[in-house]
Amino acid sequence: MEYKHFNHEHNLAIFELQAGNGIHCSGCRTLCSNSAYACWKCDFFLHLECGNANRAMEHPSHELHHLTLVPYPTYSAGSFVCNACGAPGSSFSYCCSLCEFDLHIRCALLPAIISHRAHPHELSLTYGLGPQAKVSSPPNACDICHKLVDNKFWTYSCGPCKFQLHTSCATPEMVPISYQADGVSGNAAVEAGPGFYKEENGSGSSQNGSKPAEVEDPVLATQLELMRLQQELELSNQLAKMMASYNLSSLV
Ligand SMILES: [Zn+2]
Ligand SMILES: [Zn+2]
Ligand SMILES: [Zn+2]
Ligand SMILES: [Zn+2]
Ligand SMILES: [Zn+2]
Ligand SMILES: [Zn+2]
Repeated sequence: MEYKHFNHEHNLAIFELQAGNGIHCSGCRTLCSNSAYACWKCDFFLHLECGNANRAMEHPSHELHHLTLVPYPTYSAGSFVCNACGAPGSSFSYCCSLCEFDLHIRCALLPAIISHRAHPHELSLTYGLGPQAKVSSPPNACDICHKLVDNKFWTYSCGPCKFQLHTSCATPEMVPISYQADGVSGNAAVEAGPGFYKEENGSGSSQNGSKPAEVEDPVLATQLELMRLQQELELSNQLAKMMASYNLSSLV
């Protein structure tokens, strides 16, 4: 199976990459291992997560406007500052260019509520005031790295306990509980579909042992369910007949 991504001229295929290969994702510039989309000619790689990211989304942290997935920062500096984690980025971002609001893909997909080994209660994703904001509340320390947390950027927090983690510190060991906050889906795709569409006419021979999970055919599933119901109906009919004949004969 080959795939066409909006940000690459050649078709991509899914490969299993060894850990420690030094290959970086062209979407987020972090290391790639396990399954990834690849164009070997161009050294172009994408995490599945980065390649499958929708072209646009609505995010509850920026309710004014849709965010659009842009492959490169549109700013003259050639980089952006992520409104979630405060770290710079130089490749894919979910961007509102009107407000100069940017999120790394990974930050945009952070779940609203998590559980974490470091704290007995659920932690909720708490949005910050943005990179330009003045730090108003006295800064706390992150309970994992013990560095300061300010109110510009996002944290995972437990309000009653005043427990806070940087999102980046929480991520390696977090267990997602809910992707929904206040009924608003942080991951809702709007208008545009995923960055990929499938190239059905691809040779597929370049695939390397990664079989996508077989998606259950809904039509087939419905047919099977109908057959099962039919059989149940027939059984109960037979049973009714048996009962009836039994009753009749017992009446005689
Ligand atoms: Zn990536
Ligand atoms: Zn290429
Ligand atoms: Zn970020
Ligand atoms: Zn905006
Ligand atoms: Zn931290
Ligand atoms: Zn707590």
